[in-house]
Amino acid sequence: MAKTRQEAINMFLEQVASAEKLRPETDPEIVFFKRYCIALYWRPDGMLPCHVCQEDNPRNTPMYIDETNMKSHCKLQHRKATIKCTEQKCTVLFNSLADKELHEFYCHKKAYGNNNAFHVIGSSGH
Ligand SMILES: [Zn+2]
Ligand SMILES: [Zn+2]
Repeated sequence: MAKTRQEAINMFLEQVASAEKLRPETDPEIVFFKRYCIALYWRPDGMLPCHVCQEDNPRNTPMYIDETNMKSHCKLQHRKATIKCTEQKCTVLFNSLADKELHEFYCHKKAYGNNNAFHVIGSSGH
């Protein structure tokens, strides 16, 4: 976990670049979740990357939102995003059930791109 947004973005860019060098991926779904899981792993303390923002601009750096403000962020920015992640302590929201299921698979079960990206949610540090 990173301390500040800037630190998180720097780690994200570094990790994405080395992941692409080590193992270039072409499947858009894998590319998306690899970037998302890296963003998650290096998130700033108390924040989560918005799934819908990343979907809208997959090549951008992650949009980090305060965990407790994810709901209001989605209400304001993505009106369709009302589907909640079922994982406890994960406040990420989605446009569709399919997105939620993919998120749970890649981020909670597989934690693609980094080990246990989500196992540290709710705990301080890892
Ligand atoms: Zn968003
Ligand atoms: Zn989740």
